[in-house]
Amino acid sequence: MQVRFRLEAELRFSAPFTKESEDACRVLIDEANRVLFVKGVPKGVEPGEVGHITGSGFLGDVLTLTIESGAYTRAHDALFRFRKQVAPTLGKYRLGIREIVVRDYSITIREQFPDNFRVPRLPFIRNATLSDGVLSFDLTVTASDLENRIPDRLVRLVEEKIEAAGYGGKGEHWELIYESGAKPRHFEGDPTAEMIQRGWIRHALSRGQWIHGPQSTQLFRAFEQIVIDEIIRPMGFSEMIFPKLVPWEVWMKSGHAKGVYPEIYYVCTPKTRDAAYWEDIGDYFKVTGEVWVDEIRNRIDGPIGGLCYAQCPSFWPFLQGVTLANDCLPIHIFDRSGTSHRYESGGIHGIERVDEFHRIEILWLGTAEQTVETADRLHDAYTYVFEDLLELEWRCAKVTPWFMAQEGMIGADTSCGCGGRIGTTDYEALLPYSSSWLEFQNVSINGDKYPKGFNVKIQSGVDCWSGCSGIGLERWTAAFLSQKGLDIEKWPDKVAKLVGEPKNLFKFL
Ligand code: ATP
Ligand code: ZN
Ligand code: MG
Repeated sequence: MQVRFRLEAELRFSAPFTKESEDACRVLIDEANRVLFVKGVPKGVEPGEVGHITGSGFLGDVLTLTIESGAYTRAHDALFRFRKQVAPTLGKYRLGIREIVVRDYSITIREQFPDNFRVPRLPFIRNATLSDGVLSFDLTVTASDLENRIPDRLVRLVEEKIEAAGYGGKGEHWELIYESGAKPRHFEGDPTAEMIQRGWIRHALSRGQWIHGPQSTQLFRAFEQIVIDEIIRPMGFSEMIFPKLVPWEVWMKSGHAKGVYPEIYYVCTPKTRDAAYWEDIGDYFKVTGEVWVDEIRNRIDGPIGGLCYAQCPSFWPFLQGVTLANDCLPIHIFDRSGTSHRYESGGIHGIERVDEFHRIEILWLGTAEQTVETADRLHDAYTYVFEDLLELEWRCAKVTPWFMAQEGMIGADTSCGCGGRIGTTDYEALLPYSSSWLEFQNVSINGDKYPKGFNVKIQSGVDCWSGCSGIGLERWTAAFLSQKGLDIEKWPDKVAKLVGEPKNLFKFL
């Protein structure tokens, strides 16, 4: 990929240039091109790749510069380096920079664009064209946008989009780690259909939402108990309660703000809680029997964020800005305080892919070594549970979303060699009725992503790392029932004992 930056800016000074100060400034421009802009550029880089002032003009108190560059000392970096350099010299002539006005900024990217690449709609871009393998952007930016490195972010983003287009539909790289042997199967059907049939669950009124009767709830609680007995207690995880309404600020720091939008359940607040303001909305319902949704839309603010999507982001503000003492690490905690919500759209299926689900989230943090060690111990504990207690046909695989692989997050260099362990392991169970595999939980080593996002440090000064594991109770239930069926006599002992006799409270006539 070949990138070129070109900017035109006016540097407005506190007084008009004189012959003397103009000459001094020309010397500075010449020097900047020869020395200042070349600083830090690796040897062997083509001169045309390095920032260069290619045009200048003096008029009254304004110096107009044209700066062009390739990837080194990009045009905007050159501009600010130059600003810093001129200040002391021109100060002698009582000239100070008052303001920088960016008149024009353009970026061109030359690349083999994949066929399915589309010119993206991005902020700051006034005009974009793609022809003959050259993508050109004209930006509307201020000097402070340039100081915020907007052009660099735009280029990085376009790079990601080219890569994404190149990957096509392939969402992730999948690598098998372990596959269990065959286990006793007692059922060939769809467990959801059978649960409905037996009155264990019923559809709730929102999409992808179920009301779990006592029998299904007993099973959820039995699984929860297994997690507590075999994992949480022995490994010393302590329970916390994480919020379930997530403001944008949390997702900005956790990184979810980069792309979670199609699956969010958005949350809005009333413009006022004044009863009089809402009276006609209630009256509308009383008269028509309908909720006046179109009008409600006009009377709410937000969205201020969304309902819980992944559980752990909401924990991190608890540690925001702190330094953790060495001797409290590793921290082992978990949350099971509420539901998670995802808009799964057409994907909803049975109890296993729903819009409202129940999950235990296990979370741990510490040094890189501690984080990896906890993940390994968790994996061993899970293996015991799936092999010996649930007797499942299951497998696990390391999955790497393509963007993670590209961001260099995988295999990041660490002295301990833990970098290669960053990523997610999915645990999947066989669904005999559809001969497919269902992800029923995962274990992720997230590296320093969350501690960085929330500014969490460790006393010793080494990077803080974290990991998390989401145990989906609907998914455990779907996996278990689809292999073992709904008859308790056929279930493995431990599960049968914990569930007890399924309670049948309701009789439907
Ligand atoms: P999938 O690929 O099946 O959509 P995911 O990759 O979106 O899963 P994660 O974001 O890794 O899932 O979520 C962690 C866990 O949360 C999953 O392993 C699963 O147990 C649970 N989970 C996620 N989405 C749902 C859902 N729609 N219904 C029920 N459980 C879910
Ligand atoms: Zn998590
Ligand atoms: Mg999903």
